[in-house]
Amino acid sequence: MPQTLIKDACILSMDPQIGDLDRGDILIDGDRIVAVERNITAPNAAVVDGSGRLVMPGLVNAHIHTWEYQLRGIGSDWVGIRDYHGNMHKNLATRYQARDVYLGNLLGALNQIRNGTTTIMDWCHILRDADMTDAAIDALEESGIRAVFARGTVKPPEKAGEVPYYKKPFPREEIHRLRTGRFASDDRLVTLAMAILGPDWGEYDVAAHDIRLAREYGLINSAHTYGRKGKRVVEDGMPRLAKEGLLGPDHNIAHGNCFSEDELKIVLDAGCTITATCLTEALNYEQPAMLGRMVKFGAMPSLGTDCDPYFNSSMLWVTRHAFQEQRAMDNRSLREAGQWPAATQHATRTRDAVAWATIGGAKALRLDHKIGSLTPGKQADLIMIDTRGMNIFPALPGGDPAHVVVMYAETADIENVMIAGTFVKRSGKLTFPEDRLQKLHQDVMDSRLRMMEEGKFVYKSVDSGPLPDRYVF
Ligand SMILES: [Zn+2]
Repeated sequence: MPQTLIKDACILSMDPQIGDLDRGDILIDGDRIVAVERNITAPNAAVVDGSGRLVMPGLVNAHIHTWEYQLRGIGSDWVGIRDYHGNMHKNLATRYQARDVYLGNLLGALNQIRNGTTTIMDWCHILRDADMTDAAIDALEESGIRAVFARGTVKPPEKAGEVPYYKKPFPREEIHRLRTGRFASDDRLVTLAMAILGPDWGEYDVAAHDIRLAREYGLINSAHTYGRKGKRVVEDGMPRLAKEGLLGPDHNIAHGNCFSEDELKIVLDAGCTITATCLTEALNYEQPAMLGRMVKFGAMPSLGTDCDPYFNSSMLWVTRHAFQEQRAMDNRSLREAGQWPAATQHATRTRDAVAWATIGGAKALRLDHKIGSLTPGKQADLIMIDTRGMNIFPALPGGDPAHVVVMYAETADIENVMIAGTFVKRSGKLTFPEDRLQKLHQDVMDSRLRMMEEGKFVYKSVDSGPLPDRYVF
């Protein structure tokens, strides 16, 4: 197998046995990390200069609806789930054909790579049929990203005479087709999961059926929570599922931020994982992200970007926001408890946020035996951040590499991205063929404009047009 030796880099391994190395080497053989040490000699390896670079595990985006990529720049002033649901699921999502899903997933996945994400959970809830499903998977595979493809279903507007989506159990035939077909093995770059409605979005029997189906096929399942009691389809879904033994480490929860303390304890005791999408939650949820609250119970958060209609799905940005949001909440709690400032150290540090964005995501996807840290034996999924540019210089050496990642690094600083031993971004550019990338941009634009026209979607905001009166002095 061809070997690659990254030489003289600052290494943020996120492996507790290895820790940080101010200056060290990483040897990669084929798709695996073989060694992470101060000085490695490997005469046959292709050497990559790591001096002036920080190497860390690739970021894990544990929750993204990659198909939404076409619909950027329209959602920042939407109010609550109402406008999201109305504009997306009830209108624009219904315009998607298989080709649109393919285009969104391909450019969306490439954008993840560009931003330093090496693994995504593609929470794909746009799929009406097998053609759309296959198109979504084709795109992920072509991009070169590592992905857990969470096959989900659409939420179309209710129509008289039709069974509404929240009463529909997951289509068994699709899971059977995929699990006995291209996803028969879990030993590949793209693997299968089920994106289910869960008890906040679907009826109880539907949730129970779907979780049992996922277990039958040996798949993790993931569900969105919606809100506090009074807003959910099933008020007491989590305690009921727990009582029936249907919650476990194979159940991933997106958001979870409206859980009561009792509900949180129930899901964490059962071993469920929770993925905070703190940027979308900050925009349109009534509760802050589920981060420190679960850390207090000894659980590890994971992070996701969620929705491109609101912002560029950059995990660096989400990680920074998660850190800052939780630090602010910690400080507020201390002040309210009369304990300001913290006696010894902050409860949330930048290193925690890096863990959430790497090993935390890997655990949520049940891939922590393969990815999430720079550990010999694990897959070679890593990013190299150039620390010589003005965003970061002169923070290293002498500074904390976790601090540098969370508070200074930007997409432009991500020089190289490697997935399973292959560079998918090199010298600041995607390795995806340039001519295909240009064509893809054009196709994505055509797809966007066609769907907006069909959906008669016109961007409306109270603040569009001239400067609002409140800013005129
Ligand atoms: Zn979501």
